Amino acid sequence: MKIPFAPLGAVLSVLALFVWMFSSGRNDPSAVDSERPLATSVATPTDDVPVLREQTGGSAVPCVVPLGWRIARVDEPFDLSRTEARAAFDKASILWEDAVGLVLFSNESDGALPVRFVYEDDQERTQEQSRFAGMYREAVHTQEGKVTSVTREIRIYRFDGLDNLVKVAAHELGHALGLGHSTVPGSVMGEEFVRADRSQGVYGVQPGDVQELRSLCPEL
Ligand SMILES: [Zn+2]
Repeated sequence: MKIPFAPLGAVLSVLALFVWMFSSGRNDPSAVDSERPLATSVATPTDDVPVLREQTGGSAVPCVVPLGWRIARVDEPFDLSRTEARAAFDKASILWEDAVGLVLFSNESDGALPVRFVYEDDQERTQEQSRFAGMYREAVHTQEGKVTSVTREIRIYRFDGLDNLVKVAAHELGHALGLGHSTVPGSVMGEEFVRADRSQGVYGVQPGDVQELRSLCPEL
């Protein structure tokens, strides 16, 4: 019997690729927290060194309010108009503002927090992207140890209807305010929240989320 060497080799190669993808995801200590900035999204002023925040969690420059945001990109396959995208982020900011009782965000055409709806074909997604609905990313620029500026960004990769999008938006806006992940059940800042199919138990901004923000930003 002739051994089907080439097809077998191809199958083994694919298997090896899967093993590699799986193990690299497992071994990467930041695989759980991969809301990290991309170097390509970082503006680099000539004099300073941008410090990439390669960790999930709150902004290194928290409590900047009102935080100006804008819808900067909505890829066509989302089938979402810019008006709908803006409405979802408006609702998300109102969730926070109603809970906290303060103006925390503003929609501005030149807002420093661009929101990008980035659609990538499943085949082309990295493991990291395929696990997350959204990401908050930033690069902090420093000079002689002092923060001179921060480049922020929210990316949305997927959502399951507009209500779900509002919650994903509220989660990422919470990071932009400076909040990290919460272990309190139902918290909008739940670590697993932006993972696929794990957002069912999330109801919105909870008293615990407000408490976290108040202790992080006592000056508010
Ligand atoms: Zn998060």
